[in-house]
Amino acid sequence: MDFDALFQSQLDNLKQEGNYRIFAELERKAGQFPRAKCHNDDAPDDVTVWCSNDYLGMGQHPMVARAMKDAIDACGAGAGGTRNISGTNHAHKCLEAELADLHGKESALLFTSGYVSNWTVLSTLGSRLPDCVILSDALNHASMIEGIRHSRANKVIWKHNDPEDLDRKLACLPANAPKIVAFESVYSMDGDICPMQEIVEVAEQHGAMTYLDEVHAVGLYGPRGGGVSERENLAHRITLIEGTLGKAFGVLGGYITGSEALCDFMRSFASGFIFTTALPPAVAAAAQTSIAYLKQSGKERELHRERVDYLRKRLDQEGIPHMKNPSHIIPVMIKDPVKCRVLADILMQDYGIYVQPINYPTVPKGTERLRFTPSPLHSIEDIEHLVMALKTLWKQCAIAHQVA
Ligand SMILES: *Cc1c(COP(=O)(O)O)cnc(C)c1O
Repeated sequence: MDFDALFQSQLDNLKQEGNYRIFAELERKAGQFPRAKCHNDDAPDDVTVWCSNDYLGMGQHPMVARAMKDAIDACGAGAGGTRNISGTNHAHKCLEAELADLHGKESALLFTSGYVSNWTVLSTLGSRLPDCVILSDALNHASMIEGIRHSRANKVIWKHNDPEDLDRKLACLPANAPKIVAFESVYSMDGDICPMQEIVEVAEQHGAMTYLDEVHAVGLYGPRGGGVSERENLAHRITLIEGTLGKAFGVLGGYITGSEALCDFMRSFASGFIFTTALPPAVAAAAQTSIAYLKQSGKERELHRERVDYLRKRLDQEGIPHMKNPSHIIPVMIKDPVKCRVLADILMQDYGIYVQPINYPTVPKGTERLRFTPSPLHSIEDIEHLVMALKTLWKQCAIAHQVA
């Protein structure tokens, strides 16, 4: 059996469709965010990153880096085991307390990543609660979809951000079955935000538990960075809030927060929590520093919002169509995988602007896009440079000027 030929034929298909993924090989430079060195042959040495999920540049914040270095000096590189067998470090418990406080919950539990937390928690809930039904928003992240699938629980998909459809679907289910409504606050590809209050009310009326992914909102929204649920004063009405330490907090890891019993249940039954090495204590210490800092500092969030508004305004002025949404994510629709890749290549090669083309399967075919995430550390000059480049390319490529 020629396995490589089997692999290669599927890769060739991807290439033919224009959906083959090419990674930019970056070397981030501490203190110079959003600048990075680029190691790809056909790119300039120095590029400006326009698609980072390190939304506030906290991954390079001196206090965060210092906390990580100090923890390495104090505790060494690794955790030393799974959480169960010698791997629970003091830094993990401190971080869990910080997270529980961030969301106003009794308890929190750490995972290796946000992906792992969604996957393992939803699969554990769905498989351990008898007759459980999981109601999943149609645009939920792959990590939730895979976790739900693995649970083998009954799954009902409700129309994206549509509380009325959710209501109808909940009404069809047996009154005594445990129901879980799984959704996100900020959807990262379109940048739209869920109608959280309506969803929570519908779930409450049907006695359903709410599972909220705040991955693209923690650190960014709410007076202390507790996410959209904090901003809308709804956190106390949500059963489980899940988040990441890898995006706005700038480090690595995932977590859930909720009741003492819920977190203890996951600690005791969730395979993806139990049978894996704990995060390095230095990672936990750095993440805790980042969270604690953003709880009491609003200036990064404020400047972030200003930069996002400014880029939107400039795109409008130059007639470059971008998707309107209430978040910090600015998608510029290209609607063709090959064009999307070509535009990204030119931006990189001729302008030193790095934006990753977003193609299928991350988004549906025909909705390919460039997705810009301005940070507080992108200067006005950076934004003007980007707008000028897009303006020039728009003229050259004559891409349809309709707004998505
Ligand atoms: C990125 C992402 C995750 C996964 O988080 P990681 O910490 O990067 O693994 C989960 N949910 C959503 C909506 C995401 O975009």
